[in-house]
Amino acid sequence: MTRIRFAPSPTGNLHIGTLRTALFAWLYAKVTGGTFILRVEDTDRERSETHYETSILEGLNWMGLSINEGPITGGDYGPYRQSERMEQGVYQTVAQQLLDAGQAYYCFDTSAELEAERQAAIAAKKPYVYSRKALQLTPDDIQKKLEANLPHTIRFKMPDTGTLTYTDLIRGDVSFELNLIGDFVIIKSDQSPSYNFAVVVDDIGMKVSHIIRGEDHISNMPRQLCLYDALAQK
Ligand code: GLU
Repeated sequence: MTRIRFAPSPTGNLHIGTLRTALFAWLYAKVTGGTFILRVEDTDRERSETHYETSILEGLNWMGLSINEGPITGGDYGPYRQSERMEQGVYQTVAQQLLDAGQAYYCFDTSAELEAERQAAIAAKKPYVYSRKALQLTPDDIQKKLEANLPHTIRFKMPDTGTLTYTDLIRGDVSFELNLIGDFVIIKSDQSPSYNFAVVVDDIGMKVSHIIRGEDHISNMPRQLCLYDALAQK
């Protein structure tokens, strides 16, 4: 049984490109007799606005793209919202599992320090990847910094060698050199999950069978696939 999600961020009015993605996702769910899920990706508190969510819901309704799973609101299925799942602690729980398994780590670098690393990479004409400086902290250092409430993020430890290849149903095989990706933030300093992390946690949790979305997300695939692998072992 296919399970397809449409996962817009309510950071702007529904536009034709997003609606096109929704249409293809909905059609695929229909032709395969599957389930169409709406997931509102609203963890970016600064950019997400309720009236944009309303615009998205109205647009889907106008197009007749009905959803057939989700919390019931007003007699109909409504969207899952990442902000609600965040309040339930869904992402923190998974981040903790990765920390416990040594697959993620706390990072206390300031934005100025990270910017200096980035500028050094630019000056050296090298692609920027995080230096892993935070991995030098001892458990004791980390404990003290956490107790002192120092701002921090949690980063996912990416494999740093080799090539990752996946098969895209439209493009065919797509490959990435893993040494160019770097460890990325999964929990931001305001404790909200990053996009790449929340997507994977939810796609696994919601048992999504096919990811149908814009090509602009191809570059996110290596990060998301490595997270899938790590979480598959949990
Ligand atoms: N929320 C993302 C966006 O609006 C899409 C997430 C996804 O489909 O993986 O660009």
